[in-house]
Order: sequence, then structure tokens, then C-alpha cells
Amino acid sequence: MAIDGPAGAGKSSVSKAVASALGFVLVDTGAIYRALGLVASERGLDLHEEEALCGLLEQMAIDFVMVEGKPHIRVNGVDRAGEIRTPAVSEAASHVSAHPRVREALLGLQRALASEGGVVMEGRDIGTVVCPGAEVKVFLTASAEERTRRRAAELQARGEEVDEAALFEQIVARDRRDEERATAPLKPADDATILDSTSLSLAEVVERIVQLAS
Ligand code: C5P
Repeated sequence: MAIDGPAGAGKSSVSKAVASALGFVLVDTGAIYRALGLVASERGLDLHEEEALCGLLEQMAIDFVMVEGKPHIRVNGVDRAGEIRTPAVSEAASHVSAHPRVREALLGLQRALASEGGVVMEGRDIGTVVCPGAEVKVFLTASAEERTRRRAAELQARGEEVDEAALFEQIVARDRRDEERATAPLKPADDATILDSTSLSLAEVVERIVQLAS
């Protein structure tokens, strides 16, 4: 099952609940771009340097392990899950993911993670590029205002201070970069079910998606 959509549409919570309802494995592909953005920033790489980023990726063995029922991303055996959810890493991920060769280099890993079936894979281009043969495709969206409110609540729940106006700008800019990039832009697959969650509860969204799978 492919679940794609813009930042803050609720993909993470929805995908987690759908995977658990169906007994499927959850794969969060955004975590992979986030891990690359994190390590590239740590190394002081220019995020516009495709060549350097591809070189870095060759040195990064990426896998997922389950920790207390949640998938954690590891880079060279080190759990980095606690470091990839910051606004700075969101920005870095959005920049590194725009490079066609970076995306190409990550296709094999993502397809391998999906190959056994029984997987909910969330991202931006899963239904269009990574797994065009997915049995169920959902494009989950919500208004930019609602997505900002949800992201702000998520950050505040972690004790972080949030400037909602700045967060709104960041989300809109990130969506624009994802939608306008030449390779694998953010868009619904022709055969995706588009679900606008602006005025739906998490439980309602999950129920609709589980119905699509049965
Ligand atoms: O989903 P999440 O917000 O964690 O993704 C972080 C960034 O990674 C996105 O803004 C997007 O630029 C990129 N991404 C992508 N393709 C995916 C998943 C994420 O380009 N399949």
C-alpha cells in the first residue's frame, strides 16, 4: 500500500494506524531523505552538490529496526530516529531529495523494503515512481493551514517552541519544492484515491483506508 501526500497531512499517524490495523510493516521513506539531510549537514556538505551527496550515500548503510513497536532508521548501525524530526532536518531533507541521482540511488533500497509485500509505504512518490504496482494507493492531503496546525501541535507536544507563521511558510515552501521538482514530483498517481483529511478525524481517515484494502 502506498500512502503519499504533502508535509503534515497526517501520513505518519495514519500510516502507522493503518499498518497496525492490517498487520502490515510500516516503511517511512521520508526518514531516509531526513537521514541523508542530517548526515550531510553534520559533514558540512553543500546540499545543492548532487555529486557529493551521492558520494556520501555510498558510505551510508541505511536500515530500519523496530524499537518499542516503532520503526527507527539506522545509519551504519547507529539509531538516528531521535534526531531527524527537527525543522532544520526537514529543510535539509527537502533539499537533498530534489536531486535526481539521489532519488535514483535510493530506489533500490525502497523497492527492496517493499518487495516482501504486506507493507504500508509512506512518502511523496511511492504510488507514482517507487511502487507503481502497489495494490492500494492513497494520496492524503489537507489544507496548508490545517497541516500547519497539526505540525505545530506535534512539535509543541515535544516541548518545542513554535512560530506558527514561520512554520506555515516553511510547509508551503517545502510543498512547492516537492511539487515543482523535475524528478518524481509530489502528485497523486492516476489510480490513487485522493483523501482530504482537513475535516476528518484520524480514526475516520484510517477507517476509509482500511476499507480500500479489504
Ligand atoms: O515525509 P517527511 O516530511 O518526513 O519527508 C521529508 C522530506 O523528504 C519531504 O519534504 C520530501 O522533500 C522528501 N521526501 C521525498 N520523497 C519521499 C519521501 C520524502 O522527496 N518519498
